[in-house]
Amino acid sequence: MVIKKYTAGVLQYIPFFYVIWSDDLLSYSEVSVVKKAIEQDKSLDKKEYEYLLTCLDKNTPPSYEVLKNWKNVISHSQVQLIESDTYPLATFSQKMLCHHFGDCPFNAHLKDIEINLGIQPNHYKHLFDIGIVENVVSNFYNPKEIDTILKGDQATVIDGFRDFLKDPIFEWNLKRDKEAFRLHVLKQVQLLAKKGYGAMSYTEPYGGSNNMIGYAAIFENMMYVDGSMTIKFGVQFGLFGGSIQKLGTKKHHDAYLSETGKSNILGCFAMTETGHGSNVRGIKTTATYDKETDSIIIHTPGKNDNKEYIGNALHSTMASVFAQLIVDGKNHGVHAILVTIRDSNHNLTPGVTIEDNGYKLGLNGVDNGKIWFHQVKVPRENLLNKYGNITADGTYHSDIKNPNKRFFTMLGTLVGGRICVARAGLGGAKKSLAIAVKHALQRRQFNDSIKIQEDLLMDYPSHQLRLTPAIASCYVYDVALTHIMKVYSDPKIEDKRKIETQVAGLKSIITWFANDTIQECREACGGKGYLLENQIADLKGDVDIFTTFEGDNHVLLQLAAKGVLSDFTSEFNSAGFVAVLKLLGERIGDKINTINPTYTNNVDTAHLYSAKFHTHAFDYRTRRLTYTVAMRIKDYIKKGVPSYQAFLKVQTHLLALGKAYSVAFAYATFVDFTETIVDQKNKTLFQKLGTLYALHELRKDASWYLEQGYISGTKSKALRQRVERLSTELRPHIGVLVDGFGIPKHCMQAPIAK
Ligand SMILES: Cc1cc2nc3c(=O)[nH]c(=O)nc-3n(C[C@H](O)[C@H](O)[C@H](O)COP(=O)(O)OP(=O)(O)OC[C@H]3O[C@@H](n4cnc5c(N)ncnc54)[C@H](O)[C@@H]3O)c2cc1C
Repeated sequence: MVIKKYTAGVLQYIPFFYVIWSDDLLSYSEVSVVKKAIEQDKSLDKKEYEYLLTCLDKNTPPSYEVLKNWKNVISHSQVQLIESDTYPLATFSQKMLCHHFGDCPFNAHLKDIEINLGIQPNHYKHLFDIGIVENVVSNFYNPKEIDTILKGDQATVIDGFRDFLKDPIFEWNLKRDKEAFRLHVLKQVQLLAKKGYGAMSYTEPYGGSNNMIGYAAIFENMMYVDGSMTIKFGVQFGLFGGSIQKLGTKKHHDAYLSETGKSNILGCFAMTETGHGSNVRGIKTTATYDKETDSIIIHTPGKNDNKEYIGNALHSTMASVFAQLIVDGKNHGVHAILVTIRDSNHNLTPGVTIEDNGYKLGLNGVDNGKIWFHQVKVPRENLLNKYGNITADGTYHSDIKNPNKRFFTMLGTLVGGRICVARAGLGGAKKSLAIAVKHALQRRQFNDSIKIQEDLLMDYPSHQLRLTPAIASCYVYDVALTHIMKVYSDPKIEDKRKIETQVAGLKSIITWFANDTIQECREACGGKGYLLENQIADLKGDVDIFTTFEGDNHVLLQLAAKGVLSDFTSEFNSAGFVAVLKLLGERIGDKINTINPTYTNNVDTAHLYSAKFHTHAFDYRTRRLTYTVAMRIKDYIKKGVPSYQAFLKVQTHLLALGKAYSVAFAYATFVDFTETIVDQKNKTLFQKLGTLYALHELRKDASWYLEQGYISGTKSKALRQRVERLSTELRPHIGVLVDGFGIPKHCMQAPIAK
């Protein structure tokens, strides 16, 4: 091939033009940036200026022949690209000029293009056949600062806890025998209790500091040690202790809470039965008040009515048993009753039978078991009676008259556990990402024949795309969970219904995200990821069940969607016709936007990267799904379909709404949070992570947006390209981004992550 000769003025722009055209992302705003630079570049003569302008015409892009020529000019320059240069591409152009013409002026207009278009070596270094002096990681951002932003006002608690995890009892060891594993986990939990972590969420008189936000944060950090330890801790202090705290009254707190916090009493939370899991209201265990003996009799009526999967069942002496409360022949619905299941010698109490659930897919350090009750008698006082009581005269009383409302109020108090499970899932995702990224920054596979060294896994665009959006999502979900825990534990907010909707949605999308991410990280580490010593395998087994316990995700998402719908209908009912008109107005507004080709086709960087666009797109999806599902239900009901059946007919629609609402909520929370970051550099980084999350989420549901005409094919393609581009752009910072999770070094013992 004959390499076309260029004048010095044109030559210096060639690397830029090659990068821009090969990226296939040239938008009108980008063209205008380059045009402006050329117009202001007084070193160009008229001919050079005109030639460069023709190279910017989107209607007549450069031919393949021209592009090949440009590439050859670059490759034959024998100039190295130094990634650590302040303006790597402008400097590269300058050196190229030097090589061909012996003249080496630094052109500030090129620097402007580089800055304004955000061109980074990761965008183009694979395009050139030249030597590259690589920056494996950048230290532009500081992981400690990032971690401090995430820790927020819990920094002292979290730092103290992370330090405490240095104790040798928390070191990772291969444990396959469940009995030995369970004993070890029990010792860990007892030590955590001794240090005051178990009681942390209880009030001061019961040994705690009333710090639910800190409790959730340390819960996530426990996942850096072990899933079984985390879950056993959660069962003991959060579920068993939490049921006493939230469903019991002072007499129960005084009798049991401090001892539970210290793990002197070990307890379990016995809700699920073999026959009834998600449908808690349908459980069959009975708690019948016997007036004569002033006691409650707990009984498992039939086959499959036994409690099942109950965590801590083998070690506990007490259980918080959920049962149908029957007083004077009337069923008052599900209530919780404290039952002593073992005596001081650890023998089962009369009428109680317990069996081990055996080995599981994961969490084998947790002793899950089945429990049967045969006419087990406990004092009336053992009823956790905050929401429903049996008075001394043997009559039932509750301030909440509606049994439906009472049931949901009681279950609603346990929502904190759901936030913690989502946090634990997030911890699992963070740790597996940290392991995968650290491995990818050391491991090399394949090279171009001209290179001596093979390429790092992390330099493959596919690897960047597999890991970077997940890292961005971790940041968004971290902020969303901290926020929701703050709102949940705020005593000033009495009506927690909205929070329940939000938590149901977040728990679902985050635990699913965690599972997908851990699997991706396992694969990203190749065979090494499959070895137990590298710790992703355990996370995979442990985090799997997070999608099912504390509320199955499919069931929870429907709960979230119903919450959104009831907000919608109450808005409708209270404002009546006006609300309908307002909503129709919004729909028309949406329609105008969606059919407006300027909006649906807008692929300008500024628009695609703006929080305004992302928020509008997420809200639009939620609003539209809410409206259409409401109209469908209404139509079915009008036709005489019973409401239960009507809801079943729109079930998949409800799931889509639940997801859409949760993503919109998580993103909105994150955007608000970024506004509070004082330091501009870190604020920009967080905003970029938010943008990557949003574009990735929109891209995942691009088919829906395309169906709705909200985006054009071109915009859908631009979304995909922007996700890839941002993932590449964040490549130099990827090590810092996973270090920003703050996982202590002593918990990163996987050999591939050292
Ligand atoms: C390791 C482990 C630890 C546990 N610890 C405890 C504990 O300490 N205490 C306790 O009380 N329980 C515990 N559980 C039980 C857990 O909470 C239940 O497994 C969970 O509530 C789901 O119930 P299920 O297993 O009966 O599933 P099911 O309710 O039978 O669900 C099975 C499938 O059907 C789907 N499904 C069900 N209903 C619907 C619906 N309405 N619409 C659409 N799909 C639906 C679900 O999505 C799911 O995929 C534990 C379970 C495990 C495995």
